[in-house]
Amino acid sequence: YAQSAALLERAKKVLAGGVSSEFRKYNHPHAIFYTHGQGSRIYDVDGNEYLDFTLSQGPLILGHSHPHVLQSINEYSAQGQLFAGQHLKEIELAEKMNALIPSAELMRFCLDGSEAVQTALRVARAKTGRQKFLRFEGHYHGWLDNVCWGISTPSADALGSREQPQVYPWTQGLPERVTEEFLILPWNDLALVRKTVAEHHQELAAIITEPIMCNNGCVLPREGFLQGLRDICDEYGIALIFDEVITGFRVSLGGAQGYFGITPDLSIFAKAFASGYPISAIVGKREWMQLIEEAKVIHAGTMNSGNATVAAALATIEVLEQEQPYERLFRYGQKLMEGLRQAAAETGQNLRVEGLGPMFNTAFADTAATTYEYRDTLSFDKAKLGRFVAGMHDEGVRVIGRGLWYISAAHTEADIERAISTARKVLEKM
Ligand code: PMP
Repeated sequence: YAQSAALLERAKKVLAGGVSSEFRKYNHPHAIFYTHGQGSRIYDVDGNEYLDFTLSQGPLILGHSHPHVLQSINEYSAQGQLFAGQHLKEIELAEKMNALIPSAELMRFCLDGSEAVQTALRVARAKTGRQKFLRFEGHYHGWLDNVCWGISTPSADALGSREQPQVYPWTQGLPERVTEEFLILPWNDLALVRKTVAEHHQELAAIITEPIMCNNGCVLPREGFLQGLRDICDEYGIALIFDEVITGFRVSLGGAQGYFGITPDLSIFAKAFASGYPISAIVGKREWMQLIEEAKVIHAGTMNSGNATVAAALATIEVLEQEQPYERLFRYGQKLMEGLRQAAAETGQNLRVEGLGPMFNTAFADTAATTYEYRDTLSFDKAKLGRFVAGMHDEGVRVIGRGLWYISAAHTEADIERAISTARKVLEKM
């Protein structure tokens, strides 16, 4: 990794930290600089090739450099740089997404997931006239001030009976009012949500949740949990917000709401629908979204709906519609999950593999529990996970440092088999 090491020194002189947080936060063994990606592969400056299951933190559902996406961006970009909407392709994209996403009646485009989350919270406040939100431990809704704190923080919950928030060094600079704005509960505990909402509904504008907890493990909602949230929100006139930044267009064309058959009032899409080009969408029912329509809620952004990013989104969705890769993403993902479990059993390692298939998580933990909540993950063996991810990396298989794997339409059966045999080798050595 000599070239990467040299580039890190150069980068440190001009970029804070030299590289993005992934390398530092998850104890990656090396800061790697990449030259290019193609299909399921990514290449570094030292000439190493990796089988890529990070997919740039998830968005590359078609793999790197899909020709139709690239061609579409080139074509539309050549027509001038049409920002802030007001071009035909934006309407076409919204029409397409409206037809696919079950809860979609109206939408607006922004640049990234974090921004779209803020818009959804703002709409919920404006419509209900209430100020607070209920969110869940371990869920991530972007890195902006009010939602950031909580991903790694076992928070004092709404009932005040849990541990005090543990302040991590990287939370410096964030406001201290987060727990005033949010009630934070353990996920998947419907009775606790019901009790809390019954006590606090007069101040609650929305419940926001990832429909699958993907940022700490990859935990599915318990049977009836999402429907329970829907019922509670209906009963009290609270917005149900699905943060589908990861699940949108990844588990089905209609996102997790299509997959589970539960319809939120507002939802947020980003990452996969534009192959990672900077565009996100806040999508919702007319009665909520009309607050933007009536200009009661401000929604702005100079670079929103730029024609190159809209082109990336249209092209990605076109390919997803034509190829319908979902059956394959599930099949390959589940085959890989099963192969990893078997490799763990054969090598006597306490590897846990959990998720849906198109994305799943690996962790090291001595627990027989079939499901876990965020606070359980605090005791998972992160150092061992670091050694596993590093070992995979050295064998040419790239996995997200916190243990998450994404499958793309570019992965082949041979890729899956190679990942399994590499994992067996790495686990054996460990
Ligand atoms: N919500 C969820 C569920 C996410 O996973 C992320 C990013 N990983 C975000 C919001 C923030 O999106 P972005 O990084 O595009 O701002």
